Amino acid sequence: MNLRPEEISSVIKEQIKRYSAELDVSDVGTVIQVADGIARVHGLEKAMQGELLEFPGEVYGMVLNLEEDNVGAVLLGDARSINEGDTVKTTGRVVEVPVGDALLGRVVNSLGQPVDGKGPIATDKYRQIERVASGVITRKSVSVPLQTGIKAIDAMVPIGRGQRELIIGDRQTGKTAIAIDTIINQKGQGVKCIYVAIGQKASTVASIVRTLEESGAMAYTTVVVSTASELAPLQYIAPYSGCAIGEEWMENGEDVLVIYDDLTKHATAYRTLSLLLKRPPGREAYPGDVFYLHSRLLERAARMSEEYGGGSLTALPIIETQAGDISAYIPTNVISITDGQIFLETEMFNAGFRPAINAGLSVSRVGGSAQIKAIKKIAAPIRVELAQYRELAAFSQFGSELDADTKEKLAQGERIKEILKQPQYKPMPVEYQVIIIYAATKKYLLDVELDRISDFEKELFAFIDTKYPELPKSIKDKKDIDSEIEELLVKAITEFKEQFV
Ligand code: ATP
Ligand code: MG
Repeated sequence: MNLRPEEISSVIKEQIKRYSAELDVSDVGTVIQVADGIARVHGLEKAMQGELLEFPGEVYGMVLNLEEDNVGAVLLGDARSINEGDTVKTTGRVVEVPVGDALLGRVVNSLGQPVDGKGPIATDKYRQIERVASGVITRKSVSVPLQTGIKAIDAMVPIGRGQRELIIGDRQTGKTAIAIDTIINQKGQGVKCIYVAIGQKASTVASIVRTLEESGAMAYTTVVVSTASELAPLQYIAPYSGCAIGEEWMENGEDVLVIYDDLTKHATAYRTLSLLLKRPPGREAYPGDVFYLHSRLLERAARMSEEYGGGSLTALPIIETQAGDISAYIPTNVISITDGQIFLETEMFNAGFRPAINAGLSVSRVGGSAQIKAIKKIAAPIRVELAQYRELAAFSQFGSELDADTKEKLAQGERIKEILKQPQYKPMPVEYQVIIIYAATKKYLLDVELDRISDFEKELFAFIDTKYPELPKSIKDKKDIDSEIEELLVKAITEFKEQFV
């Protein structure tokens, strides 16, 4: 057989090519230790921070520590089958979740796998869960309201699309209730919602999903769950997964609302895995980068400018406090990252003032510009009147004779507090909020008995719906109160009052 020299050289060249290709197919290492959901792996020289590692039995791990002679990885699956000496391969990929409209109505875990028994998620689009937040150039200031349907919030601490507003309070003060009502109120508003449950009981999450289903909210909602029984690493990545799902919609120019319930448990999960990775503990035993843990997550909330699609991602993180202490480590961190907070108070909650929003400590730093004109015009006195009421109420406890002016201020404050009460799962459209807040701030309720205020509200709406249905409609359309609407409003309220009293 005659071989020409060109052929020989081409065969050799081919072999060299294949040889070098084989070399970097995958980087392989061995497990030197597994414990508490953490694996230490030797020999992975090319592993990247955050990279997925493949362990035997289809278990994946995520690289978190790159050390001199080993790699520390958290396991994202059942660790029982992994033994010392097992082979580990790098995959060249970081953690990704499926994204897109196929996720609407679904309940998924932190890795985007369905856990609702409704079959696989029909999407071929994936996104990395961690991403650097969009830069200042791509953003626009917040100016469109995100109506929560909760009177006290929309009137006093309004939230805009693209804003980050913290919901903070002790346990059992109605934090989740506010978040769920806000999701329910997004029906027909063109906002897609994501509810991320971190470290909660599975039964609690199940009842939340049921509530969302019953109110028809699952049609535009995705639930990401990592329950208390799951491994700390899965709880740690859950909010980033939820955020990535939302970012996909945001980049397509849509409006998105993400709720992180709650970041206290998220910080605890991160502390657990940091301590297991032997990272040095700092204040309250949290690792040094616990601020960055939440800042990089919440910075991803944004309102994009028109050139970048004009979408938005609003974030409502939740933090649980101990005995109302908002100066603890994690609460102060998250307060400083967000654009305001809604502070819920145990005493108010127990006294029946629900939602138990403390008007003095709650603020929204950007929301004011995202209120519709109608609410902005009439809701301004609420804060002042409530503050005056608080001061006078403390003072008048001593029982001295009160002058008429003080008495009126007290009565007015009590009535404002009364109209801000709202039952759960009953978000109120903004046009009706305008009507009742107008009636209250213009002192039409002063001569209504305190215990009849809620009846007054209900019956007033029924009266307007039958007699003046054009009134809420035109408030909704114009988003403002012009002289024509105001005239009609006053007429309707006075007419109704005559028959009510
Ligand atoms: P946890 O700390 O356990 O997560 P939480 O602060 O999220 O609690 P929720 O679970 O939202 O509180 O509410 C606690 C209880 O208060 C629930 O039983 C809920 O039904 C009730 N509740 C919340 N808001 C209201 C409301 N506006 N009116 C009446 N009941 C309410
Ligand atoms: Mg809750």
